[in-house]
Amino acid sequence: MDPAAELIDLLGASLVHTHPVDRLIYAKDSGVASGDPAIVVLPGSTEEVAAAVRIGVAAGMPIVARGAGTGLAGGAVPPPGSLLLVLTRMNEIHEVDEIGRTAWVGPGLVNLDLSEALADRGLEFAPDPASQQSSTIGGNVATNAGGPHCLAEGTTVAHILGVEMVTADGRIVILGGEAPDEPGYDLRGLIVGSEGTLGIVTRVLVRLIQRPPEIATMLIVFDDIHTAAQTVSDVIAAGLVPAALEMMDQPMIESVENFAHVGLPTDAAAVLIAEVVGTAEGTAVEAGEIREIADRNGAREIRTAATDEERALLWKGRKNAFGSIAQSAPDYYLSDTVVPRTRFVEVLDEIYAIAERDGLRLMNVFHAGDGNFHPLVSFDASEPGMTERVIGASHDMVLAAVAAGGTLSGEHGIGLEKRDLMHLVFTPQDLDAQARIRDAFDPEASLNPGKVLPDGARLSERPGR
Ligand SMILES: Cc1cc2nc3c(=O)[nH]c(=O)nc-3n(C[C@H](O)[C@H](O)[C@H](O)COP(=O)(O)OP(=O)(O)OC[C@H]3O[C@@H](n4cnc5c(N)ncnc54)[C@H](O)[C@@H]3O)c2cc1C
Repeated sequence: MDPAAELIDLLGASLVHTHPVDRLIYAKDSGVASGDPAIVVLPGSTEEVAAAVRIGVAAGMPIVARGAGTGLAGGAVPPPGSLLLVLTRMNEIHEVDEIGRTAWVGPGLVNLDLSEALADRGLEFAPDPASQQSSTIGGNVATNAGGPHCLAEGTTVAHILGVEMVTADGRIVILGGEAPDEPGYDLRGLIVGSEGTLGIVTRVLVRLIQRPPEIATMLIVFDDIHTAAQTVSDVIAAGLVPAALEMMDQPMIESVENFAHVGLPTDAAAVLIAEVVGTAEGTAVEAGEIREIADRNGAREIRTAATDEERALLWKGRKNAFGSIAQSAPDYYLSDTVVPRTRFVEVLDEIYAIAERDGLRLMNVFHAGDGNFHPLVSFDASEPGMTERVIGASHDMVLAAVAAGGTLSGEHGIGLEKRDLMHLVFTPQDLDAQARIRDAFDPEASLNPGKVLPDGARLSERPGR
């Protein structure tokens, strides 16, 4: 039977799309690559996901999961002929355990909707990617998303206790659970960050944290980006772990300010947003220590948000950094790398030099406390050769980070974008081991094929073997 007809029998015609315009809508995520799904479906339950996977696999179709499509590495880009499962209808909060501070939620639940729904109980979900107004918990799990507040709280993997998922052969399994240390291999940990290549996540058991009683948010202004970066290193070296420590350079400050009007000084070389949380006494002490370090490094101004509104405004600026680019250029390309914090300043200089070499407009926004760079090049893809130039320069920026002992991605994942760079940080044996893990979950390579691992990752596929 034709898979589209079977899927219509399963879900109804309104939730199965094959028209070219509908397929075009889902051809891309928020990165630059695009694909072409043969069929797009919007299942509403775990059982429907399992049945859809069985139909797609029987028809020999690649199966790709998609949340909100905010991914920046091409992870949700559907290859030609694929079946794309859009999970946004599965956005329920199934149950909340206030005492145990956990909740079972659907993969399509928007990240911020969870914390907003729990606000009156004093609870929240800690991972807060800047895309949290639209990205889904399932997408956050699949990419092991980070965010400004992951410096102290850890990335998504630290907040996922269990997952229910549909395997490549259409079975429903639960991995992990409420026990603090489930017996056996930590398969839950393996699924987090697996970018839809090991299973389709259909429910997530999340850990919740208590909202802090006191929050102090500071805007620290510098006339020199090096002293801003030095302040970040000194704060961490002093043993302080602020809840967040973010940085923006001058072009990014200007872009954000023109867009969001949050009161950032557009003539500053860099600003830091430092946030500390805890008891009133604890936050006062920690904020004081950060202030002292910033003063020592020649900060021009240190402003502390006096009200919740002022704090929200600062975060509005930071979280709209990428969106603000739309005013100045139709396109942007964003890299995501991590460097050891001791090499931060050196790699930063190399990144600026690469952009200058290629005549590109570069702006930077960083999860600085984690050493996580996001160099962003704004451009116009309609200019001939421009996209290739931008991708080439961004590639060189990643190489500079890796050469300094950094790695390929801090949080956005590998997807299509960086799969051919995996050999820079993994040996052939490492890649082979990862390929064999994938084979164990999905021997027919039905789930998100072509993502994460480069061609030839299996040693057995190499010539002469
Ligand atoms: C403006 C902006 C700001 C951003 N800020 C951050 C940030 O601060 N931190 C950060 O980490 N990222 C950030 N991102 C990147 C992106 O938002 C995250 O990677 C996010 O986790 C993706 O969620 P999504 O629902 O959009 O997933 P999608 O883009 O739809 O999918 C991402 C990957 O997850 C897989 N997937 C999705 N759902 C499932 C599922 N249920 N089961 C199995 N696999 C699944 C897809 O196949 C794909 O490989 C940002 C993106 C934008 C556009």
